[in-house]
Amino acid sequence: MTLIVALDFGGTKLAAGVVNAGAREWLHYERRLSPPNADAKTDLEIMRSLIHSLVQGAKPAAIGVSFGGPVDATTGVVRLSHHVPGWENIPLGKLLEEEFGVPAKVDNDANVAALGEHRFGAGKGYESLFYITISTGVGGGWILNGKPWRGTEGMAGEIGHMVVDPQGSVCLCGKQGCVERLASGPYMAQEVQENWQRGGKILRELVGGNWELVTGKIVSEAAIMGDELAQEVLYRGAWGLGVGIGNVANLVNPQRFVLGGSVTKAGEKWWEVVRKTAQKTALPEVSFDIVPAALGDDAPLWGAVALAETNCEVVEKAG
Ligand code: ADP
Ligand code: ZN
Repeated sequence: MTLIVALDFGGTKLAAGVVNAGAREWLHYERRLSPPNADAKTDLEIMRSLIHSLVQGAKPAAIGVSFGGPVDATTGVVRLSHHVPGWENIPLGKLLEEEFGVPAKVDNDANVAALGEHRFGAGKGYESLFYITISTGVGGGWILNGKPWRGTEGMAGEIGHMVVDPQGSVCLCGKQGCVERLASGPYMAQEVQENWQRGGKILRELVGGNWELVTGKIVSEAAIMGDELAQEVLYRGAWGLGVGIGNVANLVNPQRFVLGGSVTKAGEKWWEVVRKTAQKTALPEVSFDIVPAALGDDAPLWGAVALAETNCEVVEKAG
């Protein structure tokens, strides 16, 4: 048996799975919430105990890791996490290799999810695709000529901070009118909160008059129920994402865009606005399709399996 361990360090969640090389079902699988005051140390501690309980004394052949933040994929060093303190320059790959005595590959979650969707999901059989996650943030990962394209510093695919409205509101990155500033769940909620005076009855009722309770999910629920402010904010987000996708299509001409993350559950109209805007933004000669991700929350974990399988000779021989 050749065991592959897959790890997913998310902003709020930690997940680990074990699979037989080549198999498509988890042998063991566990998901935990990060404690409220989590830092790199506590997350690592939880992950270590998850791994030990999952492999049950067996020695895995390789470890693949999806990390929610920028990573140097060649060295396995985490640069930082925007959500969890203490991750600055942590050599995560090396720590795991030392503890478990097997090769460990680390990459950021969008790149890894792209790999997962390419290998096992909505991108199967596509030579070139761009995966985008629209959730708490917006991130992207490339597969070009069948392989991940990370860019010189691992920063390729940052569609979240592509500017689509230069006069727009300021984003956490310091620039104005980024895709993420328009389309992410928390920013849509913020947009509604800042304009609550114009808020409709439906939104007001959904949060019982307490605007602090607005979330991206509630914005999309209210939009579907017909609330005008919610519709304005949600579909402006979809528009911003569509402009970003259309520009990316012009520049690199991938076959397919795969969209994952919770905001993609915002309903048919949201998808329609994204698709129409992307088509309108791209040149008429540039064709592509835009489809939902197939692996859901497990895309980073399956991508971590693919990462381990791709990078570790041990596994290729066994597979
Ligand atoms: P995470 O992806 O960080 O684990 P969630 O999936 O719960 O967290 O939500 C991420 C963001 O997506 C939140 O801002 C949430 O409000 C938003 N969201 C969740 N469901 C929907 C939905 N159906 N439509 C629009 N936004 C949503
Ligand atoms: Zn930005």
